[in-house]
Amino acid sequence: MRVRRSLHRRGLRYRLHTRLSGCIPDVVFPRERVAVFVDGCFWHGCPLHRTYAKANAAWWLQKIEGNIIRDQRTTARLEAEGWHVLRIWAHVDADEAAERIKGAVLARRRKPG
Ligand SMILES: [Zn+2]
Repeated sequence: MRVRRSLHRRGLRYRLHTRLSGCIPDVVFPRERVAVFVDGCFWHGCPLHRTYAKANAAWWLQKIEGNIIRDQRTTARLEAEGWHVLRIWAHVDADEAAERIKGAVLARRRKPG
């Protein structure tokens, strides 16, 4: 994942595939309690790139809306547990994504307690 390389270049230490209360974010910063999900445009219903197959359109719509709702619940659950959750669309430039993540991680480091 290009985002991970970009994070590494910025000297950020992260963990991969860490299970947090029933979900596995793409990148986790345990000390700062930052969880990052890189969401695929199709499966997670990106507003810019969501497209539905003409065949079985209703089925796909339901499927993807279900994913969106599940993502929102996951975010809410992690936030309730004190995590800062970042969701980044897969179409976002890797360096831009890494800057966003870095900003969130550094903000958490500055925060006392
Ligand atoms: Zn997209």
